[in-house]
Amino acid sequence: SNHLSDRIKNMSTSATLAMAAKARELRSEGKDIIGLSLGEPDFNIPDFIKEAAKQAIDENYSAYTPVDGYAELKKSISGKFKRDNGLDYGLNQIVVSTGAKQSLFNVAMVCLNPGDEVILPAPYWVSYSDIVKLAEGVPVEVPTGIETDFKMTPEQLEAAITPKTRMLWFSSPCNPSGSVYGKEELEALAAVLKKYPDIYVVSDEIYEHINFVGGHVSIAAIDGMYDRTITVNGVSKAFAMTGWRIGYIGAPEWIAKGCTKLQGQVTSGANSIAQRAVIAALDAPLSKIQFMIDEFHKRRDLVLHLLGEIDGFKLNVPEGAFYVFPDISSFFGKTLKGTTINSAEDFALYLLEHANVATVTGEAFGNPNCIRISYAASEKELRQAIAQIKEVL
Ligand code: PLP
Repeated sequence: SNHLSDRIKNMSTSATLAMAAKARELRSEGKDIIGLSLGEPDFNIPDFIKEAAKQAIDENYSAYTPVDGYAELKKSISGKFKRDNGLDYGLNQIVVSTGAKQSLFNVAMVCLNPGDEVILPAPYWVSYSDIVKLAEGVPVEVPTGIETDFKMTPEQLEAAITPKTRMLWFSSPCNPSGSVYGKEELEALAAVLKKYPDIYVVSDEIYEHINFVGGHVSIAAIDGMYDRTITVNGVSKAFAMTGWRIGYIGAPEWIAKGCTKLQGQVTSGANSIAQRAVIAALDAPLSKIQFMIDEFHKRRDLVLHLLGEIDGFKLNVPEGAFYVFPDISSFFGKTLKGTTINSAEDFALYLLEHANVATVTGEAFGNPNCIRISYAASEKELRQAIAQIKEVL
């Protein structure tokens, strides 16, 4: 392993995947671990999507696909952007990829030169920072706390901008905090960006539909932002299709072209069967997935209620996604069952070892005071997990 490239040596392993691996290891030793570390809906995908996939197999959708995605799928995506976001993206502005993760990687590779700075309001999704570094960009974290509902203020944005700033990346609803930026908040950020026309925005909207306050707003729809925003989305979360690996962007044409060029040399077009299934998913009325959103909403309320009964957990009220991100820094310096807790990582490991519950340290998301708990799990598991957590604290 001495000869591993510096690129890969300098990369961190996905903390969410690492925690899942640790939980698996403990399970293989016979421990009954409740996994609340992964960002994965626990629903089966709706039958009409499965039917579309079966039909695609029978209709022999088995050849290489166009690098940027089937035209029929891009039409569905274009229709979805119009219907849900009020955005007009032509087919030449849309690129389908193997998951939103690849969409993000493509954009980083296409838009960044070595040394270009990318502003990441923290907490941010784990992979942003390593994807930016892989593209030789420099992540610039802007820490936010529970006081502002983990949202970056316009003043913070302005203070983080330097002559090297090239992009701003954020997700709303946010993984891990569940925070949702409203229209006025986005307008205020856009007002700052107006002064810096060379800065582009990656708006990761993969949790768009998992929103309990309604009214998702795309920053690309804010005055002056359309030509400088890359809107990223996918089907992993709202349609419970994590393993199908389809994500997509709507972007200025030159960026879409760059992504297609890159993808053409790396993965080629995304999986044919999955693409056909996603046409069915995106063309369907949103009422077909409402049951999942209602269920997440119920679980959010349950988890907030149960965690609220534990002394020392400070919680915001997440308006979307399926995570809570409690500030647990009040435990730092305490010794529990002979273990001294000095960091969020210590705390998450303590919960894993003593409460048999897998969570993720906030450090991985750029926030050292919090842990992330996913509530994409059954009500029974959530009740059990939180009871065990309460017990060991
Ligand atoms: N963006 C955010 C904020 C996510 O939480 C995730 C998945 O965890 C992704 C992107 C990647 O999604 P995909 O499964 O489409 O690659």
